[in-house]
Amino acid sequence: MNAPELMASHSSPEVPTPKKAVEVRQASVIYPAADKPVHALSNVDLTIQSGEFISLIGPSGCGKTTLLRVIADLEPITSGEVLVNGLTPQEARMARAYGYVFQAPALFPWRTVLGNVMLPLQLQNRQPEACKEIALEQLERVGLKGFEKKYPWQLSGGMQQRVSIARAMGFEPRILMMDEPFGALDEITRDNLNEQLQQLWQRERRTVVFVTHSIDEAVYLSTRIVVMSPRPGRILKIIDSTLPDERTLSMRDTPEFNALAHEVREALADGHAH
Ligand code: ADP
Ligand code: MG
Repeated sequence: MNAPELMASHSSPEVPTPKKAVEVRQASVIYPAADKPVHALSNVDLTIQSGEFISLIGPSGCGKTTLLRVIADLEPITSGEVLVNGLTPQEARMARAYGYVFQAPALFPWRTVLGNVMLPLQLQNRQPEACKEIALEQLERVGLKGFEKKYPWQLSGGMQQRVSIARAMGFEPRILMMDEPFGALDEITRDNLNEQLQQLWQRERRTVVFVTHSIDEAVYLSTRIVVMSPRPGRILKIIDSTLPDERTLSMRDTPEFNALAHEVREALADGHAH
């Protein structure tokens, strides 16, 4: 499969971007439950600079999705503080700071590919022609030109996920939140989408917060890898990537890559041992 380039040409928004994209300070989340409250996150501290590609990795149930949802104003914190572009998550959401890509593409089956990408723009009451123009541009950027009139069920899983990425990018979010977006795809499709996402990040330098179970995916994509402990989720270790920003899939065979993967694996194992 070819990797069509995600972005042909694109003009960045002129709005100045604050240096600190996300600041999470001593954040804890306790979910109320009938029997016993669930302590999902415990005293998480994390600062993300604008333009970073951050991966959250950790065992299932450790609070990765919760942390993503906290940053995106989809979940309140029980204690602590969260700032996004210097604003509260709610203010940031109102300012359309986020694009969110879920594990399952979550497309509407009765809408065409174009209709799905246009939806959030239509909900903003944009002019119909503008919605269409932006949606077509986004679809071209994810290599789906020519598929506008198809319905989601006519596309492969990888293509559906590209539609949801196009939808999330439509209103030019400063921060792209991605929750295991490629987790359900076969390895070849995942490699292909990883490569495209890496190129997209290189060109646009948007801040990305990415959740994954895959060590290779985290190492290939990230500028920093946040390793989390089993529940209650804490940050065990933050690993700075030593790889250059510009990456190829073949770098996965280099000693540098393997050393990073090893470091992530060790940190995950340490978390399990305690
Ligand atoms: P991860 O994404 O790392 O798998 P989650 O953030 O989804 O973990 O969940 C962390 C923990 O909180 C899990 O034990 C999960 O069952 C629990 N949890 C998540 N959402 C809720 C909720 N709305 N109510 C109660 N418990 C929840
Ligand atoms: Mg999750």
